Amino acid sequence: MILIVVEHSAGAVRKSALELVSLGRELAESRSEPLAALVIGAEPAGVAEQFARYVEQVVVVADAALEPARAEATTRAVTEVARSLEASVVLIAASRSGLSYAPRVAMRLGAAYLEDVTEVASEAGGLVATRMTYLARVATTVVSEAAAFVVSVKLGAYPVAEAGVAGAVRSLTVALSADDLRLEPGARQAAVKGRVALEEADVVVCGGRGFGSGEAFERLAVGLADQLGAGVGATRAVVDAGWRPYGEQIGQTGKTVAPALYLALAVSGAVQHLSGMNRSGVIVAVNKDADAPIFKVADYGIVGDVLEVVPALQQALAEVG
Ligand SMILES: Cc1cc2nc3c(=O)[nH]c(=O)nc-3n(C[C@H](O)[C@H](O)[C@H](O)COP(=O)(O)OP(=O)(O)OC[C@H]3O[C@@H](n4cnc5c(N)ncnc54)[C@H](O)[C@@H]3O)c2cc1C
Repeated sequence: MILIVVEHSAGAVRKSALELVSLGRELAESRSEPLAALVIGAEPAGVAEQFARYVEQVVVVADAALEPARAEATTRAVTEVARSLEASVVLIAASRSGLSYAPRVAMRLGAAYLEDVTEVASEAGGLVATRMTYLARVATTVVSEAAAFVVSVKLGAYPVAEAGVAGAVRSLTVALSADDLRLEPGARQAAVKGRVALEEADVVVCGGRGFGSGEAFERLAVGLADQLGAGVGATRAVVDAGWRPYGEQIGQTGKTVAPALYLALAVSGAVQHLSGMNRSGVIVAVNKDADAPIFKVADYGIVGDVLEVVPALQQALAEVG
């Protein structure tokens, strides 16, 4: 059994879960094993119904104590379900949350853990995985012949799967212990109403220190993102300056994103930033320095001042409606 752990938010399946379906289907076929998905949460029935359009078997664990998520409680739920289904491969998105519990699940299952991989294939009963290292500059191949695997998969590594099955949903109960619930989750930063979440966005507008001030960033980078219905990202320099919250930081010590379109505005393109966005589909950079490293990864580049180029873009967008 190949088991996908489904990430969801505000009653909707996350893009990362649909990416895991693409990989899950490949592994299910090559290993001749069935594919199932696990949805956990306080009231996950709606999400499970949505997911049954992608996977034949969907297992739901509903428990108020599973939200907001705690790594210990999630570990318990995923481990118990993986055991009861005798899963040979558990697929988890390598999001911040996924990376917090995936290795714990592997340890409890006595499974091999393949972390943050970009490709996985079945080979001679085992798995062969590709993993980027040294700030995404070197690809390593990991071969494992274990009996069971937990695999965390880099966001954006696989395409979003198409719906097309009429799966069945069933419930399982998992007993959470006091130990699983001993940590009190902190308050989450409320998402800005109407703005798409960074990890879900098809378009990301990321701004760098070159905006010169938080006010210019808000007016131009955030303004452009809102016009495009895009997610807002920032470099670490911007976050360190206090212009934007840490939740918007993209890069080695921030989030990893892989939108279809990434606008890098006044971003130098430091390696630590690139490792968080270099799997984006089309990269467009605006920088006043023609030698800025961001142009090495950009598909389209504008050498210019963001204080002039962004208002011009905003005006052009306003004109086309
Ligand atoms: C361990 C470690 C982890 C890190 N993790 C991260 C991370 O997760 N994410 C991250 O982003 N960084 C990270 N960094 C920091 C990284 O090395 C860079 O310092 C940072 O990305 C630079 O941000 P920036 O491009 O906004 O600023 P700068 O390097 O200051 O670049 C600003 C750019 O804007 C251009 N510019 C200036 N004015 C204008 C203008 N008016 N119009 C157009 N262009 C203009 C400049 O030519 C320049 O290219 C990390 C560093 C370390 C050591």
